[in-house]
Amino acid sequence: MIAAFAAYDCPACGMTVPADRPRWHCACGSHLNLAPGDGLVRGEIDGGEASLWRYRAALALKGPARVSLGEGWTPLVERSWAGARVHFKLESQMPTGSFKDRGTAVMLNHLLEVGVGRVHEDSSGNAGASIATYAAAAGIPCRIYVPATAPRGKVVQIAASGAEVCAIPGSRQAVTEAALAAAGDSFYASHNWQPFFIEGTKTLAYELWEQLGFVVPDAILVPTGYGSNILGLERGFDELHRRGEIAHRPRLFAVQAANCAAFAAAWAVAAEDYVPFAPGPTVADGIATVKPVRAREVLAALRRSRGGVVAVPEADIAPALSAFGRLGLYVEPTAATVGAALSRLLDAGTIGPHQTIVAVLTGHGLKAADKIAELLGV
Ligand SMILES: [Zn+2]
Repeated sequence: MIAAFAAYDCPACGMTVPADRPRWHCACGSHLNLAPGDGLVRGEIDGGEASLWRYRAALALKGPARVSLGEGWTPLVERSWAGARVHFKLESQMPTGSFKDRGTAVMLNHLLEVGVGRVHEDSSGNAGASIATYAAAAGIPCRIYVPATAPRGKVVQIAASGAEVCAIPGSRQAVTEAALAAAGDSFYASHNWQPFFIEGTKTLAYELWEQLGFVVPDAILVPTGYGSNILGLERGFDELHRRGEIAHRPRLFAVQAANCAAFAAAWAVAAEDYVPFAPGPTVADGIATVKPVRAREVLAALRRSRGGVVAVPEADIAPALSAFGRLGLYVEPTAATVGAALSRLLDAGTIGPHQTIVAVLTGHGLKAADKIAELLGV
C-alpha cells in the first residue's frame, strides 16, 4: 500500500501521468503501462492472508481492498509429465474458474479508488465472466459485449452475475468496436488495455516464488493470448530482482495454438513487434488473439527471459486435455495447450527433466464441458 497514486507511462509518446482518475489509454491513442513498482521483501508478506492480498505491500493501490472474493494463493501441485516432475499452478481454482481474477480484482479495486461506478468490457469468455462477477461483488452495474458465437457456459456465467450481456454478431473486432462506442458514464474496464490488470497478474510471480520456498523456477510455461500473465510474471520477478530477493529470473515460454499464434509469427522472424499473420480457428478460444495490445512488451519479456514461444498444433490439444484429466486436473482446452507445449520442450531438450518447471493451468474444465465432450468423444 502506498500513499501516493501510482503513475502511468505511455510507451508511444513518453507521457507520464498519475493514475488518479479513470483512464484506459493515453491521449495519443496508445495503451498505458504502470511505472515500475517497488515490489516487496519477504518480511512484508502478510502470511495470515490466504489470497493474493498477502502481497498488498507490493500493489500500486492507495488503500486496502474494497472488494475481494479470496482470489489468488491457488494450489501448486507436482505431477509427472513426459518423464519430468512438473509443478502445475492451478489458476483454474480461482473464484470464477480462471486466472483472470488476479487481474480483475486489482484492476477493479483501483477503479473503485478513482471513483468508477459502472463498467463495461468486451470479452469472448473468461475475462467477461471475471469482471461481471467482481462488479457484482462490488455492487456496481456492468455490461459485457460478447461475440454472438461465445461459448455458452461463459455467457451463462456472465448473465448469472446480473451483468447485462450484449451479443454482437460478426467478428471479434466488431465486439470490441461495440464496446468502444458505448457512451455515457460507464468506464471501459478492458482487461487488455487497463494496466492495473497486469498489476494483479504480477502476484503470480510472487506466489510461485513463495510456494517454491522462495526459489525461482527455471522455466514457466503459460497459455498466451494477449500476454497478461507473461507481463505480470515479468513485472513481478523484475520487482523481486530489484529488491534483491532473487538472483536470477525464470525463462518464460508463451504457449499458443498454432492456428492463431500472433507471438509465434513474430518470434519466427525475430520481429520486435506485431507482424500480420493469417489466423485460423482453434478450440483454444481463450488464446485466439489476433492483435495483442502489448505485442512489443510481451516479445521483449520473452526475449529478456531467454524463453520463447511454443505453437501447439490443433491435433495435440485433445490428447493433452485427456492426459490432464487422468492426472486429476480437469482443464479447459485453452489450458490444455500447456501440456502439449511441455512435451515439445522436454522432447527437444529446451528444458530438462531435472529443472524446476512450472506450467500454468489458466482455466477450469467446467467452463467448457460441451467443447470437451466433443473433443474427447464423450
Ligand atoms: Zn501517449
